[in-house]
Amino acid sequence: MAIISSKQQSPQPDGQPKQRRGSAERRNLPKAAPESGILQPIAAADEEGKQEESLRPQRLADYIGQKDLKGVLEIAIQAAKGRGETMDHLLLYGPPGLGKTTMSLILATEMGVNCKITAAPALERPRDIAGILVSLNPGDILFIDEIHRLSRLTEELLYPAMEDFRLDITTGKGQTAKTRSLPLPKFTLVGATTRVGSLTSPLRDRFGLIQRLRFYEPDELTLIVQRTAEILQAPVTEDGAEEIARRARGTPRIANRLLKRVRDYAQVKKYGDINQDVAAEALELFNVDPRGLDWTDRLVLSVIIEQFNGGPVGLEALAASTGEDAQTIEEVYEPYLLQIGYLHRTPRGRVATPAARKHLGYE
Ligand code: ADP
Repeated sequence: MAIISSKQQSPQPDGQPKQRRGSAERRNLPKAAPESGILQPIAAADEEGKQEESLRPQRLADYIGQKDLKGVLEIAIQAAKGRGETMDHLLLYGPPGLGKTTMSLILATEMGVNCKITAAPALERPRDIAGILVSLNPGDILFIDEIHRLSRLTEELLYPAMEDFRLDITTGKGQTAKTRSLPLPKFTLVGATTRVGSLTSPLRDRFGLIQRLRFYEPDELTLIVQRTAEILQAPVTEDGAEEIARRARGTPRIANRLLKRVRDYAQVKKYGDINQDVAAEALELFNVDPRGLDWTDRLVLSVIIEQFNGGPVGLEALAASTGEDAQTIEEVYEPYLLQIGYLHRTPRGRVATPAARKHLGYE
């Protein structure tokens, strides 16, 4: 399967400036903010190479977790294959690192077609998307990451392409403008987004299937860690894999990254198998706490508890008090804190829960 990738690396969601760090002079917080980014769900620059590709499951049967999504796609694949047609356009949404790109590649393998991977920031000019569309072979999958960030002109070119497999090209300007239609081969568009609410409704309506990816349960992540450990030939015990999984924020990309750091640690320290103690010791070194919180998570929670009496506090006020970017808090930190019940969102703002207070040692 040929993968032609024009994926661009965006260091922060929506090109936001790098995070600023707030004051660490608070109780229960490490004094310095580690900058390792070990818990960031977005792929680091060195995580898009060949070795990373080898970690991706290739077939639907190897894709761990996301039972509902797999069920829906299994039917869609079989139905499309049975009719000898392409699959409906598919929109995948959910936090980064949960397996959207991987699923798109799996769909291509299962359908026996190629997958072209690109991302909205690489499609700024209409001719960028036009060039990709005309190069597609019948049945191909086109994966567009961060699809909520498409420019208006690019998006408008996609409408007839998705609906009627037609590329409308306008030449000239004003009264002399002419539109020519080029037929396109039938293809499946797989769009991925972390912000489904930011998609325009004409674009959203053109997807036949809209599916959400959820954070993974610890037992699913344990299987992912064990699978990756086998590929990397890193000997890991079951409790070692569980320890890494617990700290991986429900995210396979983070689980794989933590495993690699723990493997390095075990190698340098000349430990044998990666067991629970080795994993815990290594991850403490990287400031990944037992629930997978990092310095900023703890800062956000402790600011709510200490400065806002536990909340509720609005996002902007929280951003100002922590020195973090509001969008980064909302997209990177909050989803996991909400998921593990350390944070609640109420109409009047964010509230830190008793579980968060306990975890940070406030009781
Ligand atoms: P996204 O596109 O949602 O940001 P990716 O598809 O790039 O996430 O997945 C990140 C990494 O996590 C991949 O390299 C892959 O190895 C791993 N991964 C994701 N989902 C799964 C899964 N269900 N089973 C095993 N590994 C997975």
